[in-house]
Amino acid sequence: MKYLKTISLLVVLFFLPSCNQIYFDTKYTKAMEKLLQEPEKPLCLPGETFDKKEEICYQQINCNGDQCIKQGDQILEKLENEFGSFLEETSEIRKEETFKEIASFDVINGKLENPRIKQVNVPSDLPKLKKIWHMFSDIIPLDERKMVHQFHVFTDGLNGELAEVHQDEQDRRKWALHLDFVDSDHPKLLISTLIHEFGHLLTLNEKQLPLNKKLPKDQQQIQQLKEECSPHYFDEQQGCSHPQSYINAFYQRFWVNMMDEWKKYQVQESPEHLLSFYEKHKDQFVTDYATYHIEEDLAESWTYFIFTKHKQPTSIKEEKIAFFYNYPELVRLRAIILSRIYSKMLHLKNST
Ligand SMILES: [Zn+2]
Repeated sequence: MKYLKTISLLVVLFFLPSCNQIYFDTKYTKAMEKLLQEPEKPLCLPGETFDKKEEICYQQINCNGDQCIKQGDQILEKLENEFGSFLEETSEIRKEETFKEIASFDVINGKLENPRIKQVNVPSDLPKLKKIWHMFSDIIPLDERKMVHQFHVFTDGLNGELAEVHQDEQDRRKWALHLDFVDSDHPKLLISTLIHEFGHLLTLNEKQLPLNKKLPKDQQQIQQLKEECSPHYFDEQQGCSHPQSYINAFYQRFWVNMMDEWKKYQVQESPEHLLSFYEKHKDQFVTDYATYHIEEDLAESWTYFIFTKHKQPTSIKEEKIAFFYNYPELVRLRAIILSRIYSKMLHLKNST
């Protein structure tokens, strides 16, 4: 989960199961179907190549090992020089509205299909739905987002909740991405949030936490599974982590020794609890929200890894950013994602 400025500690999910079909708007759903069938025809900018499979333009990345660190840093520098930092991007004004669902889509082979439009104000809102999906699909390579099977658009007004990823309870290999329609008008904030959400998909997918066990039904079962999983990271919702998983390595290195204290502070109980824990351990967390849970710490540190230049760490929070450099596949992915973000930002700039 990722929230804007105000830390909202809601863990209850707002999204109802798929009994919503009853109130589809047929006219807009048909118009959306037509819109989705229109092929993408982007014009590539100098230096970019057209990716036929994904139908987007960006500068291809060919690198190995340390070259990828350098290439990633070079693109980050260009990106920041032109558009400013993507970190700490927040908006202060909160305009609360009643939560409403706007649209749902299936994602098949990485593309939006079967639109179900529930509520839009004007026909011109429809292209925006497609546009905000592309904010995600254009920056994250297709092969890395295959777990996303649903895309939902909602709003709770300006700011508030911005994005979430949910695992499908029936088939835990599948995930849904939820985005706020109103908040998606700020590209930098949306992109940094999407990187955070992708951090969850990257670290909680079935390769990282094998789904060979059913979800525990009661506390006794949880305790038993936890003991079987020990000393590896265990999550009540996700199950036992793979010994080689990113989250288990992160847990062993940064969380095992602070778990008792973190539990004692009950940071999820209130923003005050969270902030007092954060104040005490400021040098260990990249943001206050990272203290909410190890999974949020990992997603926040991942976001900082993408948007911070490589350097030798001098504190634990910097070690958390540097943690991802232990994985050559992630260093390469960072360069690719940054290249795609840079192209996305240039194309957005050219289209306004
Ligand atoms: Zn999150």
